[in-house]
Amino acid sequence: MKLQASLLCLAIASALSVAPAQAANARRADVVNRVNALVTSHSSAVHGTYGDVYTVRDVIVDRDGTEHVRYDRTYRGLPVIGGDFVAHSRNGQLSGVSQTLRSATRPSLNGRISRDQAIVEAGTRFGTRFEGAPTARAVIFARSGTPVLAYEAIFKGTKADQTPTEMHYFVDANSGRILASWDGIETAKPGPGRGGGGSCTPTAAVGTGNSLFEGTVSLNTVQCGANYQLKDLTRGGGETHNMAFKTTGMGALYVATSNTWGNGALNNLATVAADAHYGIATTWDYYLNVHGRDGIANDGVGAISRVHYGRNYANAFWSDGCFCMTFGDGDNGASIMPLVAIDVAGHEMSHGVTSRSANLDYSGESGGLNEATSDIFGTMVEYYANNASDPGDYVMGEELFPNNADMHQAIRWMFKPSLDGTSPDCYESGLGDLDVHYSSGVANHFYYLLAEGAVVPAGFGAGTWANLAVGDLVCNGNTGITGIGRDKAAKIWYRALTVYMNSSTDYAGARSATVSAALDLYGSTEANAVNAAWDAVNVASQNTIAPPSPRRRR
Ligand SMILES: [Zn+2]
Repeated sequence: MKLQASLLCLAIASALSVAPAQAANARRADVVNRVNALVTSHSSAVHGTYGDVYTVRDVIVDRDGTEHVRYDRTYRGLPVIGGDFVAHSRNGQLSGVSQTLRSATRPSLNGRISRDQAIVEAGTRFGTRFEGAPTARAVIFARSGTPVLAYEAIFKGTKADQTPTEMHYFVDANSGRILASWDGIETAKPGPGRGGGGSCTPTAAVGTGNSLFEGTVSLNTVQCGANYQLKDLTRGGGETHNMAFKTTGMGALYVATSNTWGNGALNNLATVAADAHYGIATTWDYYLNVHGRDGIANDGVGAISRVHYGRNYANAFWSDGCFCMTFGDGDNGASIMPLVAIDVAGHEMSHGVTSRSANLDYSGESGGLNEATSDIFGTMVEYYANNASDPGDYVMGEELFPNNADMHQAIRWMFKPSLDGTSPDCYESGLGDLDVHYSSGVANHFYYLLAEGAVVPAGFGAGTWANLAVGDLVCNGNTGITGIGRDKAAKIWYRALTVYMNSSTDYAGARSATVSAALDLYGSTEANAVNAAWDAVNVASQNTIAPPSPRRRR
């Protein structure tokens, strides 16, 4: 078998672009049949073994006919965590596989500990404040090393800061050791049911939002008899709901007799609803017009945004469970404003995009890449909005803080992650042990250098509070890096995310994925720029850190 299970083998140098989603959908069945056959006949290329079953999760067809089919894997009925992969096919041949699984061996399905014992082990980590009964299912844990039998125990609860939590613990079914854990609730920062329409024929309408951060904006709404609703029929029926300071349920769809929403001030509860509705609509447009993606799941279906969540809740989060975004009010501006700024909205919606594509696990280095993906696209959405009230910048959440014209307060600074006091600027071993909102910094830093080059942003140079010099922007002294621009950088990251990364991709894998994406979309100039930017944040290539296949000889 000549096929290498490595995406580095892909050397598609010709420029290409992604076909519209609809065309891909029409060919989907043919593509799936063809690639299924290739995967079946090249089992060793995906480290397959008897008992493996592959289920298609996503299909992408490039305009030049190259096909990318994303699969989840089970073994004798058990989910293989880290066994997901993308098979690439060209001219009827398997041209490569993107995966992190390295082994075709599978463990015995007879573990030493029981499901209940696994729940007890996980409970020692979670504590006693869980809501509902914890559950556990047997899985094959294959994120690193030799796959082992494990239980995935799930505990739900609410943190002290009102953030819901849905912890997934992977407990070794023989040793009882916790192998990994992550939260199914994905927030903007580290911690401290569909609306009813009534009986009417809903018709699309256009209203006005007097928002908190984004000025006066146009909002797509619904007219329903004498009432208007914050529901966007032009973008998959996405809705904005008022949680009315509760932390459970889906709240209520915003309904009013006027199609003007908010007054620009916090004394009107519809003001931040206008920000959220506008932010999600703008993010939808960004993904559709720039990347050809039709909504979060690329299925044309809008999601629900929930505002006024909890009391003094100073965060925002995405939940795969409700497929919804949630925004807290902060302390109404005493120290932090409601978390509805457009980069935060773009950040949360992008978590949904990640969950429906690479599905990067929310822990370790893959968790940092998940967070960085949300910061990258949240930032790109802010630029795309081109709104004079909130101009684009590489600072996350700068609008959330009062008296902040110099942006000395923010959630993250992409060009110099350590300005937050915690995030490393440069790759280091043990990075994956940090909270995902800090391990993201290295990828944010890479992205800034790729798009903009080693250029100190206006307002952060000598004599300012940040006092940055060019040398502070790179880890390897290469201050000569020039950017390839935001448009190319964003398209490279998006293609890497949707075509090459999988649930366990680490930093070295992200480097390979972005190089492949740059070669696919552009050519060697842009691929060299990608390599130079990764070098400048001390991320080595995949071959140096982790060979793509143990059998590979060089
Ligand atoms: Zn996040």
